[in-house]
Amino acid sequence: MSRATADVAIIGGGLIGAWTAFFLARRGQSVVVFEKGTIGAQSSGTNFGNLRLQGRFPAQYPLSLRSHALWEHFDALIGEGCEFAQTGHLYCAFDGEERAKLEGYADVSESHGLAIERLGPAELRRRWPWLSHAAVAAALPARPAPGPSRWRRVSVKPRLSSRRGRRNS
Ligand SMILES: Cc1cc2nc3c(=O)[nH]c(=O)nc-3n(C[C@H](O)[C@H](O)[C@H](O)COP(=O)(O)OP(=O)(O)OC[C@H]3O[C@@H](n4cnc5c(N)ncnc54)[C@H](O)[C@@H]3O)c2cc1C
Repeated sequence: MSRATADVAIIGGGLIGAWTAFFLARRGQSVVVFEKGTIGAQSSGTNFGNLRLQGRFPAQYPLSLRSHALWEHFDALIGEGCEFAQTGHLYCAFDGEERAKLEGYADVSESHGLAIERLGPAELRRRWPWLSHAAVAAALPARPAPGPSRWRRVSVKPRLSSRRGRRNS
C-alpha cells in the first residue's frame, strides 16, 4: 500500500471531486483524490451532458450563473475543450394552463438575469415544423442576459489529470 501526504484528501473522482481538487490546487493546496474505480466513470461520465440554466428552482440561479461563467472559460482553465455545443432547451406548453406556468417561470428567470426567448405558435411552426401542432407556446432557449457569461450547453467528461499538483489514487 502506498502512502500519500497532502493538504486535502478527496474521496471520489467525479465532477465534484475533480473540480474541488482543481480549484484547491489552483489555490496552492496539495490535493490527493481517492477514486475506488475509474475517474469520471459514474454519474459524471454517464449523464446527459446538459448544462441547464432554465428549468431550475429559481434559488439555484445565482449558483448556476456562476457555474456557467466558469464553463465559459473551460478551455482557458483546463487547457483543452470539453465538447461544448450551444443549442438551447425548448420548453413547450400545450394548453393555456401550461402556457401561464411557462410565462410565470420565464418572468422569474428573467428577474434572475436570464434572457428568455418567448415563442408563439407561428414562430414555433416556422422553426420546428416537425413539432406537434398541439404546442401553443414555448419559452426559451435561454441564456444569461448580456454580461460576462453566455449561455451554454455542455457535454462534460471530467478531466482529472495530475496537473497542478493533483494526484489520483
Ligand atoms: C443518467 C443521468 C443523467 C444526468 N444528466 C445530467 C445532466 O444532463 N446535467 C447535469 O447537470 N447533471 C446530470 N446528472 C447529474 C450529474 O451527473 C451528477 O450530479 C454529478 O455527476 C455528480 O457528480 P459527483 O462527483 O457528485 O458524483 P459521481 O460522478 O458519481 O462521482 C463519485 C465518485 O466517487 C467514487 N466513490 C464513491 N465511493 C467511494 C469511496 N468510498 N472511495 C473512493 N471513491 C468512491 C465513485 O466511484 C465515483 O467515481 C445526471 C445523472 C445521471 C445518473
